Amino acid sequence: MRLSRYLLPTLKENPVEAQIVSHRLMLRAGMIRQTAAGIYTWLPLGYRVLRKIEQIVREEQDRAGAQELLMPTLQNSDLWKESGRYDAYGPEMLRITDRHDRVLVYGPTAEEVINDIARNELKSYKETPKILYNIQWKFRDEVRPRFGVMRGREFLMKDAYSFDLTYEGAKHSYNKMFVAYLRTFARCGVRAIPMKASTGPIGGDLSHEFIVLAETGEEQVYCHKDYLAMPIPSEDVDYDSDLEPIYNQWTSLYAATEDKYDEAEAKAVGDNLLSARGIEVGQVFYYGKKYSNPMNVAVAGEDGKPVLIEGGCYGIGVSRLMGAIIEACHDDNGIIWPESVAPFKVGLVNLGTGKEVADKACDDLYAKLTKAGVEVLYDDRDERAGVKFSTMDLIGLPYQLIVGLRGLEKGVVELKNRKTGERREMSPEDAVAFLTR
Ligand code: ATP
Ligand code: MG
Repeated sequence: MRLSRYLLPTLKENPVEAQIVSHRLMLRAGMIRQTAAGIYTWLPLGYRVLRKIEQIVREEQDRAGAQELLMPTLQNSDLWKESGRYDAYGPEMLRITDRHDRVLVYGPTAEEVINDIARNELKSYKETPKILYNIQWKFRDEVRPRFGVMRGREFLMKDAYSFDLTYEGAKHSYNKMFVAYLRTFARCGVRAIPMKASTGPIGGDLSHEFIVLAETGEEQVYCHKDYLAMPIPSEDVDYDSDLEPIYNQWTSLYAATEDKYDEAEAKAVGDNLLSARGIEVGQVFYYGKKYSNPMNVAVAGEDGKPVLIEGGCYGIGVSRLMGAIIEACHDDNGIIWPESVAPFKVGLVNLGTGKEVADKACDDLYAKLTKAGVEVLYDDRDERAGVKFSTMDLIGLPYQLIVGLRGLEKGVVELKNRKTGERREMSPEDAVAFLTR
C-alpha cells in the first residue's frame, strides 16, 4: 500500500477525550473514529489489525475442534423470555421495536439463539459433543462507555458454546477452550492469565477470566508471579489427551479476580503474590443446565430417553483485545505491534521522494517484497524525514526499511527494528532476504 493513497489520518496532538494510552494511540494512529458514544468506525489501519486478531482467534477455535457459524445481531426477544433473562438482563440490553410492534434485541451475547438452534437441530446423543462459535458484533448499552474500544457499546466478540451429555463431557469442552485461549492470547503477543472468576449475569459455577495485566485495567486482580513465565501449550497440543495436565498446571497456583479474592489463599502465596490491575480479554464458563432446563434443550440418550444438555460458554473480546495489546506493547513514540497482528510487517520509508535513484530503489523493493507476500506500507509522500519517521514509530510496524540517497551511493539501505530500536545497514537484496525469510 502506498501511503500517499492510504486513508491514514494520524494526529500529532493527544486527543483530550482519551484517558488511556491505547485509546490515545488508536486515535492518533488513525485506526478508529467514534461515531456515537462507545460506537466506532474502524478505519483501514485499525480494521487490518482487527481482522488479524479475529483470524488468530478463529484458527485456535478451529484447532480445538469448534465449528464456526454466524448468528444474527438482532434476536427474537421471545427466546429471552423463555430463558428468563429478558427482564434479568436490564437496561444494558438494547431493545428495538419493529413495524409490527415486535420487540427485537440487539444481542449482548447469544446463549438463547444458539440453544434454540441446538434444541431444534441436535437430535441424538451421537451428535454430541459439539462446540459452536461465531465472531459477531455485540451491543451492550453500557452506562459509561469509555477507554475507546476497551469498553465500547458495540464491540466484536467471539462467543463459543459447548453441548455435552454429561458434566465430565462439559468439563472436557471447558478445558479445550481453556487451552485454546492460552494459545490465542500468546499468539496475539500478550500474556493472559486465567483467574478464578465470578459468573455474573450469565450464571453457572465454574469460570475463569483471562486477564492481561496493565496499569489501566479496570479490574483489581491477584496472582502468583510464576504465571508470568508459565509455558504456553504448543501448536501440536492434543485436544483429547493433553488437556487435563495443562489445565491442572495453569490452575495450580493462586490467581483470582477481586470477586473471588480469598484472604487465606492469598496470604499463603506470600511474597510471590502480585496485586495488579487487569484487563479481561476473555472468559470461560461452565453453566450446566442453566439454559437447557428452561428452554428444553435435550437429545435422545442411548436408551432413547431425552437427556438435558450440559453447557458452557466461552467469550473473547476481539476488539477489546486490540486495546489490551496496545496497553502491553507501546513506548513514548507509539505502538509496537507484535508481528502476528501488525497491520503491515514493514514500513518502507523513502527519504528521497522525487529523486529518481531513491524512487527507483523503493519501487523495486516494494515490488519484490509485495510479490513475496510481505505486507508493506510504502511512505512515498512528499514529506520531511522527521514526519515520516514519527508516523512509522506511531503506527508501530515491526520493521522500517529506510532508503536514503547517501546510503544508496554506498549500496545500502537501513533496516530498523521498531521494538528494539536496532538499526542495521545492508544491501537491498539482503533486506529483502531478511524480510521474506
Ligand atoms: P466486563 O466485566 O468487562 O463488563 P463481561 O464479563 O460482562 O465484561 P462477557 O460477558 O464475559 O463480558 O463477554 C466476553 C468478553 O467480551 C469479555 O471477556 C470482554 O473481553 C468482552 N467485552 C465485554 N463487554 C465489553 C465491552 N463493553 N466492550 C468491549 N469488550 C467487551
Ligand atoms: Mg466476563
